[in-house]
Order: sequence, then C-alpha cells, then structure tokens
Amino acid sequence: MHVWNDLGGWFKRRREISGNVGFVPTMGALHRGHLSLVERCRKENDIAVVSIFVNPSQFNEKKDLERYPRTLETDLAMLRDGGVDDVLVPSASEMYPNGYSLRLEPDPAVAGLMEAAHRPGFLQGVMTVVLKLFNIVHADRAYFGEKDYQQLITIEAMVREFFLPVKIVPCPTVREPSGLAMSSRNMLLSEASRQHAAGLYRALTTGATVDDARGILEAEAFQVDYVEEHWGRRFVAAFLDGIRLIDNVPTSSVENR
Ligand code: AMP
Repeated sequence: MHVWNDLGGWFKRRREISGNVGFVPTMGALHRGHLSLVERCRKENDIAVVSIFVNPSQFNEKKDLERYPRTLETDLAMLRDGGVDDVLVPSASEMYPNGYSLRLEPDPAVAGLMEAAHRPGFLQGVMTVVLKLFNIVHADRAYFGEKDYQQLITIEAMVREFFLPVKIVPCPTVREPSGLAMSSRNMLLSEASRQHAAGLYRALTTGATVDDARGILEAEAFQVDYVEEHWGRRFVAAFLDGIRLIDNVPTSSVENR
C-alpha cells in the first residue's frame, strides 16, 4: 500500500495507473462503516484509493475540529488489511494553497434544511473539498455512505450539475448491534453514553411522527437539533454529552430524491 503525504508523488503514480480507479474519501478515525465502503470499492475497481483528510472548511466550530478523533496509524493498518492500494493523506496547506478563497454553493433548495441549516458553511466545505479530491484522484467511481444523506445527495447533484466524470455509489449505513450508526464521533462517547446513544435509532424507528420521535429523544435527555422528513426518509441530529450525532432511516419503500 502506498501512502502519499504530498500530492506530487500521487500525481506521478496516478499517470501510471491504467485500470479503473475507485475512491473513498474519509476524515479518518476509521470504523466498520468506512470499511464497508472500502470493501465495495475494492470489489468493483482495479485500484482502490482512500483519502484521509480532516477538512477544516466543513467545521463551523473550532472546538469540534480540534477534538475530532485522529487515529492515523490504526487507520493505515486497517486500510492495509482491507487491501487498499493508495492512501492520500494531504496537508491542509496543500489542499488549500490560497486559503479558502474559492468555494462552491449548494442548491438553495437543500441549503435551508438539516445539516446545512444547523451547521452554516458545512455543505460549502464538503462540496469544495470533494471537488478538489475528485480532481486530484480522477476516480471512475466514488463511494459515499447514506449515513450522511444530505452530503450524499449534494455530491450527486454537484456531479450532475458540473458534468463531473465520476459515478457516485451510495452505500447503506453500517450499525452496531444496538442499532447505533457507526460514526467516528462515537469514539468521543463514554461506554455508558454509547449504550444510551442507541436511543437515537430507536426514536427514529419507533416514533409515530417526527414530533413523537423528538419527544422520545428529549425524554431520554438528548438535546435535539432537528427531526425532519424529506425524500421518503426521516432524519435526526441530536447531542448526547456534548457530542453531536446524526442518523436517518427510510420511512417508505419509495425513495424520492
Ligand atoms: P467521514 O470520515 O465521517 O467523513 O465518512 C467518510 C465516508 O464514510 C462518508 O461517505 C460517510 O457517509 C461514510 N460513513 C460514515 N459512517 C458510516 C456508516 N456507519 N455506514 C456507512 N458509511 C458510513
């Protein structure tokens, strides 16, 4: 497995690759959710490329960025075991040589909803870094989790709108046996809070309405950012012990995005 800390080395290597390239962008602190994307990527392509980059432009709170878990050595061992060919670990200065002076704007129709509404600048940061990464990797396919659904549909829209030559492959959410969606942020929870956090999925799947689901969460001491339904799915974001968790589930067999 090649690990590229500078883009120059990767660009040279990329010119030498002739087969199909699959790409999984991540912010590291890897878990089985990420590995499910990697496994699919490896199966469907000749070369599997993963990036690990904690993207500063998508964090609207400095404290959240600072405490975001970083576990590079373990991540690399997991990717090596997972049969990944190339890992890009670029620096922020190489990714943003002119600071964050140019950025993309999401569709206003989604910009007022959920993550975009509660984390100003989040979708701009995601779109901007993903466009940069797509131009760096030149992948045939790129793999994104449904766990971050608003991010997924925003990237799909960006690819359509700007005619980007990459196929986006959505991948289902991987959960703990308790139902808790796997997330890097779960590492920041104590063992007791992790048990408690499974209540998020229970409320999402058992609340008869969004108001019911919110009520269940509040009764269980979650601080709720939102419970909303769009595109045949129910979405939630809530804080537990100061850690912000998100999840979503289909509410009908027809997805409508
Ligand atoms: P992140 O490192 O959180 O930016 O996530 C990188 C990619 O992994 C994104 O496409 C996420 O949607 C995806 N991902 C994160 N958690 C899960 C999960 N539990 N199941 C499936 N995909 C996930």
